[in-house]
Amino acid sequence: MPRTLSDAELQNILPRDRVVTDPSELFVYESDGFTIAKSQPGAVVFPTSTEEVVRIVKLLNERDIQIVPRGSGTGLTGGCVAYENGVIVSTARMNKILKIDLENRCAHVEAGVRNLALSDAVAQLPLNVEIDADDVHDVHPTTSPARDPVAGSAGAIQNRQSKIQNLPNPYHFAPDPSSQRASTIGGNASTNAGGIHTLKDFVSSNHVLGMEIVLSDGTVIEVGGKDGAYESGPFDLPGLICGHEGTFGIVTKLWVRLVPKATSFRTIVALFKTTADACNVVSEIIASGMLPSAIEMLDGRMVELIESNYHFGFPRETQALLLAEIDGVDALLDGQMNDIVEIANKHHVTSIQTSGDPETRAKLWKARKAAFGAIGKISPSYCTQDACVPRSMLADVLAEVDKIGKQFGLQINNVFHAGDGNVHPIFLYDDRSEIEVQNVMEAAEVMLKYCIDIGGTLTGEHGVGVEKIHLMSYLFDHATMRQFQSVKDAFDPNERINAGKLIPSDKVVVTLLKPGRHVPQ
Ligand SMILES: Cc1cc2nc3c(=O)[nH]c(=O)nc-3n(C[C@H](O)[C@H](O)[C@H](O)COP(=O)(O)OP(=O)(O)OC[C@H]3O[C@@H](n4cnc5c(N)ncnc54)[C@H](O)[C@@H]3O)c2cc1C
Repeated sequence: MPRTLSDAELQNILPRDRVVTDPSELFVYESDGFTIAKSQPGAVVFPTSTEEVVRIVKLLNERDIQIVPRGSGTGLTGGCVAYENGVIVSTARMNKILKIDLENRCAHVEAGVRNLALSDAVAQLPLNVEIDADDVHDVHPTTSPARDPVAGSAGAIQNRQSKIQNLPNPYHFAPDPSSQRASTIGGNASTNAGGIHTLKDFVSSNHVLGMEIVLSDGTVIEVGGKDGAYESGPFDLPGLICGHEGTFGIVTKLWVRLVPKATSFRTIVALFKTTADACNVVSEIIASGMLPSAIEMLDGRMVELIESNYHFGFPRETQALLLAEIDGVDALLDGQMNDIVEIANKHHVTSIQTSGDPETRAKLWKARKAAFGAIGKISPSYCTQDACVPRSMLADVLAEVDKIGKQFGLQINNVFHAGDGNVHPIFLYDDRSEIEVQNVMEAAEVMLKYCIDIGGTLTGEHGVGVEKIHLMSYLFDHATMRQFQSVKDAFDPNERINAGKLIPSDKVVVTLLKPGRHVPQ
């Protein structure tokens, strides 16, 4: 526990079973998915309402104890790790879906609702239904007046319900990080998470309409649109807060957009003898003006690993697997699919499979979905790097990553969102060896600097956290860094919330590169 805070003080606010102070239990909260950054928190608390968050934040603020927001802890940059005996405030148990409003295509959720839980709940509802939280499993359809100002029937109460209530409901929450079964919507917004379908559906900030956020002094503000209003102007504060990585406050509630799911697909899986050929296909698809919903790529090492574990029948000489998916109006899809096949042929594809049938589609996706599980079979630890580069440079980036792997004696496999230039070199190592950990950190720095030098960025979707904070000033000049600091100051002037993440701070300094994993106390 922090020296100035007792168990009793926290238990004055929350019941005992929602306050963790036992070191053997705190062990679980030492890191997120980036296990190189480790530090035991002073305590972990699980509020279930905004009021409880406010009371905890006020207490921690009074004692100048670092407040560290956390969702499910699936982050990959150490963003929710508490240093300096900070207290983790987890929103994981604030997991109520407050409202699903299909007519206005939006939902109101607490921050701890898991990404997929929302889409699952939406899928259970018949079309054109508005429900309240307590009725998620007991839906009573209600139809409100048409809102389209140019419709002749605008404002009239319509009894459309009887005609359409049995139609299948086509909506979902579109951001689809691969962690979507576990990660929370509050965490997705705070990291501005992307996913496999980011190419067409964009990132989390494009799907967050409004938010409730508790600032470090306990002030609660509501920003953005609510109840289906898409704009609240003049400033796009939800847009600013998305990607704050828990450094502005604790997000407690969100209004999010629900969008129709695609119903017609074509999936194309193509194999190549060189990664350069596959990368050139990506560039040419993008340059052609087509907008696939996903273009994913696996390098030769990854294909070999999947083949030896799951026996898909990929030829030994395969150096790249490209999975492209298009969706939209069914009648147009075969034409676009043929265009992609033609591009692949031009770049020496060795084998290509296409399908519009849902069962075959699931089989075609299997290799991509099996990738991370297969890595777990061959390495005690792995570190997934994340940078975004111009798509026309993908072939150079993969060649450079290969060179860096050789230079540092590291095996690096690549599975990534090629369509949006989001590379994910996966460094395999043994977490128990300090030398290997340092090797990974050094190799990552060289790789990220290369990506920045060729016009890329420090992160495609995972964020900065503590992992890449030392490279912020490599990417951004002094004036820009000062501006970032001014934005942070506007929300959290005394650096009470998650100091030392995303924006460098004198208050909490974490150095992961030499000498070993440094945990300031
Ligand atoms: C197997 C795997 C696959 C992944 N795939 C993807 C992917 O495809 N795309 C992608 O973008 N990411 C991916 N990630 C990373 C991670 O899942 C995302 O960053 C996710 O958005 C984190 O959500 P979380 O609830 O786990 O947040 P946490 O890990 O708990 O926290 C992440 C950051 O958000 C802050 N935060 C969390 N909740 C709040 C809140 N309520 N208020 C304020 N700040 C908050 C924390 O302080 C921290 O800085 C993957 C991770 C894993 C382990």
